[in-house]
Amino acid sequence: MERTYYVSLLEKLSNAFGPSNFEDDVREIISEVIRPWVKELHTDSLGNLIALRPGKNGKRLMLDAHTDEIGMMVRHIDARGFLRFATIGGWDDRMFPGHRVTLKSRRGHFYYGIVGMAPPHVLSPAQKEKGIAAEDYFIDIGVNSAEEAAELGASVGDPATLAYPFRELKQDVYVGKAFDDRVGCLTLIGLLKAMHDGELKTDMDVYANFATSEEIGLRGAGPAAFGIDPHVAIAFEGTIGSDFPGVPEEKRPCAQRKGPVITIADKSVMVPRRMVDLMTNCAQELGVPYQYKMPVYGGTNAGSIHQARAGILAGCIATPCRYIHSPNTTLYWPDFENTLTLAKRVVERIHEIA
Ligand SMILES: [Zn+2]
Repeated sequence: MERTYYVSLLEKLSNAFGPSNFEDDVREIISEVIRPWVKELHTDSLGNLIALRPGKNGKRLMLDAHTDEIGMMVRHIDARGFLRFATIGGWDDRMFPGHRVTLKSRRGHFYYGIVGMAPPHVLSPAQKEKGIAAEDYFIDIGVNSAEEAAELGASVGDPATLAYPFRELKQDVYVGKAFDDRVGCLTLIGLLKAMHDGELKTDMDVYANFATSEEIGLRGAGPAAFGIDPHVAIAFEGTIGSDFPGVPEEKRPCAQRKGPVITIADKSVMVPRRMVDLMTNCAQELGVPYQYKMPVYGGTNAGSIHQARAGILAGCIATPCRYIHSPNTTLYWPDFENTLTLAKRVVERIHEIA
């Protein structure tokens, strides 16, 4: 595998700004990469970027990865130019204080801030004890009035993310703010590349859906599935690696360094047994490590896809990432490579159950 190619692409994807409904920058990066490999490419009215590689047996395969990440949205600007925000997607309120923030103005340029935090000297005992709710945090963008904030371009409705650039933590381990689900996007890009290179063959029409708005309730993939009307679908994810202190073994949805994660059941879908069996079979014949995601944690776009139309056969393969929905997700590189290897074989054989 062309490792430097994939690592630098993951860096670009993870650094890109893309809270739900504001994924333009992510779509732009992906479009530029995959355009030469696909026959059709368009963005639908919700913001799903949909690519097609036609096959010849008249059956449709939908591959999905979501482009959005969790973020924030400015909901109020006070007279001194402090911003209050609403959350986009599933946050833990303890995540916010002290972090740097990137915001995007309505005119499309970036401005920067920090989530202000009172030092312990001025916190009341109750605040120290209970913590602070997200709605009580504020963003300081360095101004001293509402007018100055407006001059910077700040306005109600501006989206924001926590500002953490990609880096290598040590050899084989990377950290970035949005591996959920840019690592899924990378998997999907890798599949299209393998098809283009002739390394992966299928007779099915392959629709790649880079889905919008997964983090706010799987909103993009369902309508995309309605339009594509697939015979079978697979969602690719970066999921809840929890093999670290404080989480007992029987409560770890999956673990890093143990290979791709096959979903049996999560909160959004119960995957039909023939899909789980096919994925398991592929991993076994390849000899790649694999694991099942412990039921029933999290939810994925397989959840909204399988309920589209009259019901669609759908499953999910994910790369284990630690610390998702925090400013720093980590990835063990061989987990990604093994996920892509497994995904290729599954795509090759999926016609057996479609
Ligand atoms: Zn996700």
